[in-house]
Amino acid sequence: MNEWYDRPDPTGMTDTGERGLRFECTLCGACCTGPPGYVLFTDEEADAIASFLGVTRSEFEARWTHETPEGRSLIEKQTPAGFDCIFLDRTAIPGKAVCGIYEHRPEQCRTWPFWADNLRSPRHWAAAARGCPGINQGPLHSPGTIRLTVERDNGARRR
Ligand code: SF4
Repeated sequence: MNEWYDRPDPTGMTDTGERGLRFECTLCGACCTGPPGYVLFTDEEADAIASFLGVTRSEFEARWTHETPEGRSLIEKQTPAGFDCIFLDRTAIPGKAVCGIYEHRPEQCRTWPFWADNLRSPRHWAAAARGCPGINQGPLHSPGTIRLTVERDNGARRR
């Protein structure tokens, strides 16, 4: 199925005719904060995060997660920037915001910004770009890679 990002120069920003979309994380933390939201995770991801943190699974769930209508989510902390994910670290690198569990972050985090909602149309992609300076920058992600990433994210949200 052809999507708008299959077309040459889908964002209208280049004259190269490239297909796909550009993204590179700038470590701004914008996708890990904002209005209250959910960061969902699988059992396997919970086990991996708990192990990384050196606690039991039940300790991890009691201390860093809560139940939501969509399943268990990481909790958030309110900061001047918004509702930060509890694992967002704004102190380790001055001026940057880094994930404190980066190697074990849930699939939902790994697939940003290639989420179905952001890819519904060029307008939705442009709206996402207004909140994420890494969108439309950095390496080109092919339409095939984008489709696979969307499928991974959809799978993560269905489980
Ligand atoms: S787990 Fe890491 S990448 Fe995911 S929202 Fe929290 S800080 Fe961001």
